Amino acid sequence: MNKQLRNAMLAIITVLFLSILAGCNSSVQSESNKSKEQQPILIQGPMPIEAEKFADRLENVKEEKSGTFEFYIGTVDDYPVIVAKTGKGMENTAAATAVAIEKYDPAAIINQGTSGGHDPDLHVFDIVLGKRVTNIGSLKTSHKEDGEGMDPTTWIPMDLMANEGSAGEDPDAENIRYFKGNEDLLAAANAVKDEYTKGEVVKGTIGSADVWNNEVDRIQWFHEKYGTSVEEMEGAAGAQIAKAYDVPFLGIRILSNNKVNGGEYNPNTAEANQEYVYKVVKEYISTIE
Ligand code: SAH
Repeated sequence: MNKQLRNAMLAIITVLFLSILAGCNSSVQSESNKSKEQQPILIQGPMPIEAEKFADRLENVKEEKSGTFEFYIGTVDDYPVIVAKTGKGMENTAAATAVAIEKYDPAAIINQGTSGGHDPDLHVFDIVLGKRVTNIGSLKTSHKEDGEGMDPTTWIPMDLMANEGSAGEDPDAENIRYFKGNEDLLAAANAVKDEYTKGEVVKGTIGSADVWNNEVDRIQWFHEKYGTSVEEMEGAAGAQIAKAYDVPFLGIRILSNNKVNGGEYNPNTAEANQEYVYKVVKEYISTIE
């Protein structure tokens, strides 16, 4: 073989070899693109009893912490799911939601846990799917002078997202702000509702504030004025931040107590809700894959 021919063959072999390598590379590339497309589903629970049962059901779990927020990163049916133990209340939930969105880029968020009934027809172990979530702690009081007392029934809802100026001066801010539950998440939750046998599953309105209301007249006032089915301390905070980032969101709340009809607090409801939400997540995964 002359030298020219040998060089030409070497060149062809090199090109072939390089293109095989490139082929391998691009299949590696598309694998990683695929896993990138699978954005995780984020499940939030405030207290240990409201998050850890779901976390126990995850496979391939690793734990990460940011501040006091704990994230259990795993899979359900080979799909990435993250359980966040947020801590109680609006501030913890808002911050844990923002941190999770920035860190993990979730496809959807379900905020779940226990709640107190506002609707006399709902009982302990019933579950409310949050068609709407609203902040029932965002209020403007009426005007009263020294010695005129206070009257919470005259307080006006204050929409902190109505404008960028003063919510105290703007009459447009005197509205109830409702955050709508995502339709696809609602559909998944609805599809498995008959599998839940410990109570009813209904669509309703979840009210949130850093307040535990025990005054029945006040609870009835919220039920009438805001249409609340239940109250808790997290949902509206998660919904507000999810909306800020345009991430689909749904609140799912089980009644652990209902002051209106004498329903005593039962902490076992927290686990029952996680069992149900696990089914919702499996259903949702089957619809997005
Ligand atoms: N059992 C505790 C309260 C826990 S703090 C105690 O009394 O010490 C309240 C947590 O339970 C919050 O995460 C909130 O979302 C939920 N919750 C359940 N029922 C509630 C109710 N009636 N009002 C407000 N939050 C309620």
